[in-house]
Amino acid sequence: MAKNIKIDPDKCIGCASCTAVASGTFEMGDDDKAHVIDPPGDDEATIQMAVDCCATQAIEIEE
Ligand code: SF4
Repeated sequence: MAKNIKIDPDKCIGCASCTAVASGTFEMGDDDKAHVIDPPGDDEATIQMAVDCCATQAIEIEE
């Protein structure tokens, strides 16, 4: 399962929800934005949950 996961820094409001849901994939950076540390560091359902919990749709997944 090759995935290309990106976070749009212009959309990310730094709420940290995605890092709480999928901590193996996302991490908060010093810039208070989420960053992808290991794509995919969690299973597909967990990553999808993180995408769905992002209020600003900042997480993009390309298959
Ligand atoms: S859930 Fe969305 S807005 Fe919140 S930190 Fe993650 S990418 Fe940023």
